[in-house]
Amino acid sequence: MNRETPCIEVVILGPLTQSFSYRSALPLPAPGCRLRVPFGRGERIAIAIGPCPCPQDILVKDVTSVLDCEPLLPRSLQALLAFGSHYYHHPLGAVWETALPARLCQGHPVPALTPTVWRLRSDTSPSEKGLGARQIDLLQRLREGRVASAGLDSSDRQRLRQFLADGWIEEAPPTFQTRESPLHLHSEQAGAVAAIRAASAFQPFLLDGVTGSGKTEVYLQAMEPLVLAGKQVLFLVPEIGLITQTEARCAARFGADRVAVYHSGQSDGERLRVWAQARQGSVSVLIGTRSAVFVPLLQPALLIVDEEHDPSYKQHSGWLYSARDLALRRAQLEELPIVLGSATPSLESLHNRQRGRYRDLRLRERASAKQLPQIEILPLRKKRLLAGLDPILLGACAETLASGQQALFFLNRRGFAPALLCRACGHVPHCRRCSAPLTWHRRQARLRCHHCGLEAPVPSQCPDCGASEITGIGMGTEGLEDFLRERFPDVPLLRIDRDEVHSAKQLAERLQEVLHTRPAILLGTQLLSKGHHFPDVSLVGIVDVDQGLYSADFRAPERLAQTVIQVAGRAGRGDTRGRVILQTHLPEHPLLLALQGGAYAPAASQLLRERQQAGLPPFRALALLQAEAQRAEPVYAFLRAAHACIGPELECSGPIPALLERRAGYHRAYLWLEGKSRSALHRALARAVDPLGKLPQSRRVRWSLDVDPQNF
Ligand code: ADP
Ligand code: ZN
Repeated sequence: MNRETPCIEVVILGPLTQSFSYRSALPLPAPGCRLRVPFGRGERIAIAIGPCPCPQDILVKDVTSVLDCEPLLPRSLQALLAFGSHYYHHPLGAVWETALPARLCQGHPVPALTPTVWRLRSDTSPSEKGLGARQIDLLQRLREGRVASAGLDSSDRQRLRQFLADGWIEEAPPTFQTRESPLHLHSEQAGAVAAIRAASAFQPFLLDGVTGSGKTEVYLQAMEPLVLAGKQVLFLVPEIGLITQTEARCAARFGADRVAVYHSGQSDGERLRVWAQARQGSVSVLIGTRSAVFVPLLQPALLIVDEEHDPSYKQHSGWLYSARDLALRRAQLEELPIVLGSATPSLESLHNRQRGRYRDLRLRERASAKQLPQIEILPLRKKRLLAGLDPILLGACAETLASGQQALFFLNRRGFAPALLCRACGHVPHCRRCSAPLTWHRRQARLRCHHCGLEAPVPSQCPDCGASEITGIGMGTEGLEDFLRERFPDVPLLRIDRDEVHSAKQLAERLQEVLHTRPAILLGTQLLSKGHHFPDVSLVGIVDVDQGLYSADFRAPERLAQTVIQVAGRAGRGDTRGRVILQTHLPEHPLLLALQGGAYAPAASQLLRERQQAGLPPFRALALLQAEAQRAEPVYAFLRAAHACIGPELECSGPIPALLERRAGYHRAYLWLEGKSRSALHRALARAVDPLGKLPQSRRVRWSLDVDPQNF
């Protein structure tokens, strides 16, 4: 091509910070289209950003090919990615790479979509003669009603294509009638639904509703008129494990063919298909985890972020974005209402509500009219414990089981024991790659590092002194399970943690089992505390949360308060009043006293006051400059150099070693960066990023900026 051909500015998918210019024939591909471009010795996939302002006479290479004839994302989402790149100081090409389904990043075409729901044509009566068993099966399902191709495997989709070719089936018109009828709302719910339905432009709501208050019903009824009108709703949940129940409730209300899910547990092909369906408007409710915030919708009408306080909304590697915060920005760009829901809102969201940025929707009572359980604080000082349990808690458990109810034990530590100890010399085996002790998993007879996955055999003798007096210290869920089984041999015990439950499907099965087993002991970690509805739990035992009271992480007390209230909220949802017992060595701790009444608000106000006094988020804007390397010296050398090169607009402290100083063989430390305001922080960071990358010390470390950090 000659020099008169115009130029286009592109970003290459991947971590490069700058954009590039290529020549392209007219008409220029629109911003948001993929291109194949020559780069280095090979070819790369790039995204068109816009016409290039570069002068006509400089020499640039030609675009190899244009992959899309229309932008992959609407303008609003392109703007969201540009914002995300700017706000988190992360390269735009890497941001696009995170936001698009993997198949599109590899250059696959956007699939041409066939209609997604099929029915038998009324003018045919297909014969089963000559059909295989699977074909007959599929035909039978079509005779019974509509079949969505979304729920089928590829061979069944192939069979559908054959039926279509044979003239047996046709695309079914969308059904918008609701299935399960809506519940009669109590007055606070009705107020919330009316407020959300009345909003049409950008409007954030904080739906602050106690556990069991019926937030899901509010979401469903807020969505209903939109779904009926053929509009689309994006529904974010923090974890794959919460998708199944949300999907089931939406499907019961709106029909399974109107609901789709998007998460990292799906195959790349499946994700691309759902992405394309959502984009062409044939999904009414898209339920997904973090990355679903980037899925384009043809007719978006409402965003919902459930359990908005959950730290899982923050991505913890690569582009460190918060899906909750980006959902807010998306709602603003698409001019939509957005509902953030939680029984334990984040301090950030409470602060935003106080400042009038979020509209206040409250559900103060449980839908069942059952009272919230109080929390009994059980001091452990100078007591004889059995497997870490106070006899009072064990007695309450025995009573609960005798009355045919379920008892739930919460312990956020997996394994048999959190560490091994040599009684002779005091040696504790540590991970050789991390600064943390190895956890003893007795069933598998392994020591495991919960930070990097390293495994080692259990030594029969102390590796340090050779003595054979090695025992476990502390208690994990596996150890507690053994003890409780021995103590209550006739009662079924269901353990729910990552060692027992490996997939969302297994979790759904296990939770289903919980609903049908009575009496029973439930035992689990964080996995058990989130969002699930257990009508038969009448006792909750919180075994050990003391670590959250003296952690160096300033967010630890907030997490503790949220966990305690969420776990406590599993109790007494059915017919019996719940009892919650919290064991602690610090019974006078002000945070525990604030939680005693069973409500979150007093604890949250106390924590907000503390954050304000300490000058911590959400009252100050915070970012971390993190660095890691296999030796400590370059990490500190880089951070010291960075400290010197960061301007005076920022308060900068450090280098500070990370809470986990070594992980997977890497030494880790950070600089703590604060600005007087968010905009001051961002201006200064934007100025600093380039010079930081040019520091000679930066070549010897992996470094990243974490804006609004959640982990230290
Ligand atoms: P949350 O998400 O706020 O913890 P859920 O949405 O799980 O609460 O609701 C708790 C229980 O209350 C569910 O079994 C739900 O069906 C029931 N529920 C919700 N709203 C109502 C209502 N208006 N009338 C009767 N039951 C309700
Ligand atoms: Zn490790």
